[in-house]
Amino acid sequence: MERRPFIAGNWKMHLTLAEAVQLAQAVAPTCAACPDRDIMIAPSFTSLAAVCAAVKGSGLQVGAQNIAWDREGAYTGEISSPMLKDLGVSLAIIGHSERRHIFGEDNAMINRRLHGALDGDIRPILCIGETLADREAGKTFAVLDTQVREGLQAVNSAQMECVVLAYEPVWAIGTGKTASKEQAQEVHAFLRQLLAAMYEKTVAETVRILYGGSVKPDNIDDLMAQPDIDGALVGGAALKAESFDRIARFR
Ligand code: PGA
Repeated sequence: MERRPFIAGNWKMHLTLAEAVQLAQAVAPTCAACPDRDIMIAPSFTSLAAVCAAVKGSGLQVGAQNIAWDREGAYTGEISSPMLKDLGVSLAIIGHSERRHIFGEDNAMINRRLHGALDGDIRPILCIGETLADREAGKTFAVLDTQVREGLQAVNSAQMECVVLAYEPVWAIGTGKTASKEQAQEVHAFLRQLLAAMYEKTVAETVRILYGGSVKPDNIDDLMAQPDIDGALVGGAALKAESFDRIARFR
């Protein structure tokens, strides 16, 4: 089944307002050049409004780096779906390994955030991935199985149409060590089988699964040639217009 490719840039805690708008404007024209794929950037919360305004009409989608589970309330430091929708944000990264490992977000919290996104009409990008210790202990698939099942708890087949998965091995994020295309494909195929076991086969065939972890202009083409890799979640290489543009124009 054809799955529309999806290239997403995660800007993490980088760029001031002016820098963010400048980079967004430099990246936006890539969308017109590549109409067969989805392209998204996720700036910091402080830049979202200005970036949304700057890229309006270009086709470039704007995502948040996290999202709250409730629509409003006493949650100091959190940002909710109506606040994001208001700006033109359509997607949110959820469960990034930095949220899990630095800020202690667990699968239960990530699942609540995911429902917050779905209920608020924001498409969630659910990130999962094993640590180096997990991989060396032979626990990769067990860890991913738990992250997917608990992360998608009580999400039904119809809602899965809006969900994107991102496999990001923790040992490959920001380290320069990319999973080999074979390692990534093996995991993506496993994830698709897992989705087929949890939902109908059509769900497994239509959900897009992105790879993330040191994606660069020189490895994107090989990764995208794998049958179960539908796109990329890009960190460091998304901070330069030239490299993100080349990644988005994968062949
Ligand atoms: P990286 O980050 O491309 O810098 O490894 C990827 C991510 O954290 O999403």
